[in-house]
Amino acid sequence: MKVVRRQFGGGPPVSLFTLGTMRALKSPKQMYEILESAISAGINHLETAPAYGPAERFLGEALHQLKSEGKEPIGGWVITSKVLPGQTLPEGQEQIKGILKRIRVSQINNLAIHGINLNKHLDWALKGDGADLINWAEDQGLIGQIGFSSHGSYSLIEEALNSERFKFCSLHVHLLNQDNLPLALTALSNGLGVMAISPADKGGHLYAPSTALINDCKPIPPLELAYRFLLAQGISTLTLGACKSDDLELAQKLSRSDEPLNKEENQAIENLLTQGKLRLGESMCGQCKECLPCPQKVPIPALLHLRNLRIGHDLESFTKERYNLIGKAGHWWESINANACNSCGECMPRCPKELPIPDLLKETHEQLIASPQRRLWG
Ligand code: SF4
Ligand code: SF4
Repeated sequence: MKVVRRQFGGGPPVSLFTLGTMRALKSPKQMYEILESAISAGINHLETAPAYGPAERFLGEALHQLKSEGKEPIGGWVITSKVLPGQTLPEGQEQIKGILKRIRVSQINNLAIHGINLNKHLDWALKGDGADLINWAEDQGLIGQIGFSSHGSYSLIEEALNSERFKFCSLHVHLLNQDNLPLALTALSNGLGVMAISPADKGGHLYAPSTALINDCKPIPPLELAYRFLLAQGISTLTLGACKSDDLELAQKLSRSDEPLNKEENQAIENLLTQGKLRLGESMCGQCKECLPCPQKVPIPALLHLRNLRIGHDLESFTKERYNLIGKAGHWWESINANACNSCGECMPRCPKELPIPDLLKETHEQLIASPQRRLWG
């Protein structure tokens, strides 16, 4: 059977889907079963990290067993792991040695800097101990190529890509949030590999779509449409987590779907975006970011993006989860919510759509803030 692989920077080609290992943490047996299903689903690319608890150790055990049974994907596995920025050189060296030991290999194909989210992380990777660590790992033949993941700003990701130090990147690029798509396309045209971070979960909890979303995407299920959109853009590979074999069914179905969008898919995407715009009407935030900076540091576009998704596509669980994570995820997400707006009005003249920004922020806060937990006593 034909397998489809895409170039991934200068490393071995990868399957259209990448198995993230952060959800198979119960036992090596669970990891083994998921990997076996991944082979059947045409997957050859595995993504793990020391930060995923026992994932690397379970992966090492499962891979060892599969190898002894002669089971592996066509062309062999491609493995990506990650190191957090900010470590000293000796700490980083120990971490890389630990990764190889746990996965039971002498080299991993891809090492990503896990979360270049702030300028200091990029400085670390380009000029600090991180630069020395990368050089050491390459010189020792411990890694095939270096890349990064980022939840940071557009300009920071652009700077990282322009450094020409990295051969691949993992980005948030989604059907319902296409802000980073130009960066991804530029990276691809420069020969980098691009991995989309969890289109199912981070792309809007698309495994549990709203009725509005289902209707707007008809006849294609929303998650399938989102996957097809990204693959048709040329994104090298899409990550998905799996805790049981069934979770890989859609990946198996789409394992060779690398062709451009067909007429039906294009129509479904057009309808989806049109319906979202209709529900939002004049109040839709165009995400131009002209309103920034806010003296209270309110991340207006990010918050109004959640409002766009909540009202435009009825993404309740996703938007509430993201909103209530604000201030609780360090540099991985925003730190200030809409409640910080004091209605000073400074942003309003800068908005080309003349949106009543303070009112929209207040409404967003009221819609998305978690209601206080009910007390079970007293
Ligand atoms: S009105 Fe609110 S969001 Fe706008 S600049 Fe003032 S504090 Fe920031
Ligand atoms: S300027 Fe207006 S349209 Fe642009 S991001 Fe800010 S609120 Fe949205």
